[in-house]
Amino acid sequence: MPNLRFSAIKTINESAQNISSYDNKKITSLFGVNVFSGKVQREYLTDEAYKSLVNSVKSGTKIDRKMADQIASGMKAWAMDRGVTHYTHWFQPLTGATAEKHDSFFTLKSDGSALELFDGDALTQQEPDASSFPNGGIRATFEARGYTAWDPTSPAFIIEQADGKTLCIPTVFISYSGESLDTKTPLLRALDLLNKAALDVCHYFDKNVTKVTPTLGWEQEYFVIDEALANARPDLLATGRTLYGHSPAKGQQLEDHYFGAIPDRVFAYMQDFEQESYKLGIPLRTRHNEVAPSQFECAPIFEEVNIAVDHNSLLMDVMQKVAKRHKLKVLLHEKPFAGVNGSGKHNNWSLATDTGINLLAPGKTPRTNLMFLTFFVNVLKAVHTHADLLRASIASSTNDFRLGANEAPPAIISVFVGNYLNKVLDEIEERVTGKFTEQDEVMLKMDIHKNIPELLMDNTDRNRTSPFAFTGNKFEFRAVGSSANCAWPMTILNTIMADTLIAFKKEVDALIEKGEKKELALMQIIRKYITESKNIRFEGDNYSDAWAKEAEKRGLNNFKDTPSALNVFHTESAKRLFQEHKIFTEVELEARHEIMLEEYVKKVQIEARLMGYLASNTILPSAIKYQNLLIENVKGLKEIGLKKETMQSQIEIIEKISEHINQISTLVENMILARKKANAVDSMHSRATMYCNEIKPFFDTIRYHADKLELIVDDSIWTLPKYREMLFLR
Ligand code: ADP
Ligand code: MG
Repeated sequence: MPNLRFSAIKTINESAQNISSYDNKKITSLFGVNVFSGKVQREYLTDEAYKSLVNSVKSGTKIDRKMADQIASGMKAWAMDRGVTHYTHWFQPLTGATAEKHDSFFTLKSDGSALELFDGDALTQQEPDASSFPNGGIRATFEARGYTAWDPTSPAFIIEQADGKTLCIPTVFISYSGESLDTKTPLLRALDLLNKAALDVCHYFDKNVTKVTPTLGWEQEYFVIDEALANARPDLLATGRTLYGHSPAKGQQLEDHYFGAIPDRVFAYMQDFEQESYKLGIPLRTRHNEVAPSQFECAPIFEEVNIAVDHNSLLMDVMQKVAKRHKLKVLLHEKPFAGVNGSGKHNNWSLATDTGINLLAPGKTPRTNLMFLTFFVNVLKAVHTHADLLRASIASSTNDFRLGANEAPPAIISVFVGNYLNKVLDEIEERVTGKFTEQDEVMLKMDIHKNIPELLMDNTDRNRTSPFAFTGNKFEFRAVGSSANCAWPMTILNTIMADTLIAFKKEVDALIEKGEKKELALMQIIRKYITESKNIRFEGDNYSDAWAKEAEKRGLNNFKDTPSALNVFHTESAKRLFQEHKIFTEVELEARHEIMLEEYVKKVQIEARLMGYLASNTILPSAIKYQNLLIENVKGLKEIGLKKETMQSQIEIIEKISEHINQISTLVENMILARKKANAVDSMHSRATMYCNEIKPFFDTIRYHADKLELIVDDSIWTLPKYREMLFLR
């Protein structure tokens, strides 16, 4: 059996020579060519069909059967002009991946002649088998059907794969009984809710606004390593992260990678996946190296949340497919390598009106600044009230390795607002008192206006350690993990914001009804919210131990692992929130909780199995081989009559190897016993908690001994690619 590690290292140089030259096309000539965009719709749809589609996107009205037929026919004509043969409903089930089931346009007429067909029914609905996707027990066993239903707000697109092309129709995915089984359904509900709630509050300031759209600009961090090296690491392939591996002599301590020159081979890969993304209408804009060796980031221009979410899911697929062409492996896991930085997916979020105003950007006049303050303070209040839900929205077994490590935001939710705004908030708290007069109000508005520079974005001090930071004209939710689907954190964030705005309006209206002037009433409630949410504001170093202590004093929660973070879904306040706003029914919420726990258990279980497998089949054999060499050596030295002292080092190494081998064997045995115990438990919550507290701790101790062996054993015998190779060879 050849040593995969060395054959991989050998082929690296070969693939490196294979970088194809990239033909430089203008981005504008590529952008959106595979999207059924507004421009294409105009061209391929009848006037009537076009209007009905636009109207449906704008106001959420249902498209009737006749129109659906017309739209389908236009879509088919466009797709066939581009060489498409098949179509699929494209959806995001709760597996974290995207799903497709392809059908051909091709069909047979009753007389046996061939026909290409795609009608309104095919466009609007399909019936994939729901039992093959996570459903948290919702699905009654006798009824496995699920439905996908067209989401006209996200445009259809064409996926090119090998030489084939497929028309993809973004859809939601629901069970036979109508419960959501995907990430998109609750997101769309939350976006709609937020639109209504924000619109009501907007109207205090501006009656011309008719729609508020949350916006999202994600930043995708990732690692890229050579594919052959990755293929020689079963742990990377099966779990997305390295379960073993001693840190290299040179890691990221010199910090020479960040914003450095991008290596040629990775650069060619980036250009390639960017080009594929442009065709799909994903507006990528930024690319650079990240802090860890072999770590990079890309970011698009922000878009409406629903579209940005779809685009991120698509991008993750595209990145993985294109990497293959370059014999590279892209790692989207939050923590593929211990000892170097992990990867996140910052979610930059704001609210835009259809009149072109960013509600989280300071205004030009005292009046628009009051509008800004209103929305800004409502965010603080929302995060304060629902911090635990926000924490749960980013909980996953993979993000657990990142949150709270010294390079990522802690699991404690807090908000960074920056100097300027802190001053403003303090001032309002001090000056808005019970006997607040109209004159005070005018003065205060002027003072606040002076204190909020129009271009806060350029002036805000950046705090890179905060999980939720204001960055001048948007909030940046930094704690989201790199492999996450943004839909979930966005669903929670937009729901809690809507909930807060609804309560805000009620309180302001109550004061107005009592005879208070509108702007005075607004100021009073803004002040109230500033005071009530004060505890969530933190400007210091979020990585420090001091903050963990301070946060505890403030009563902020610090859920360090996924099972405990998810407990919030059992609380009355969470149930109230989701049910009242029709984001989830009780059944849906319970199902989601169950699915997340189950996913947690499965992922830790797979890691545990691989830990054991690699220990017994890969690491121990290498160690024993080397130990045998040493034993032969000692025997030989004895044979030629040397004294025992001369072979002291060898004997010590032999002993050390035995020690580590024994430790590993015992620990693996015990881990298996712990797993058996956990698997016998029925409650998914208890099982997840056991996997977290009784099984996962074995990982570190087993790894400790294995990594020690890596340092001792002859390099030419070791079969797993080492950190220095994966992180630095390209
Ligand atoms: P960084 O955080 O790395 O300094 P930027 O602040 O320039 O980078 O922007 C990061 C991301 O924020 C980009 O994806 C950008 O599109 C997004 N962004 C900018 N404005 C908004 C907005 N109003 N709403 C949502 N996202 C935005
Ligand atoms: Mg950022």
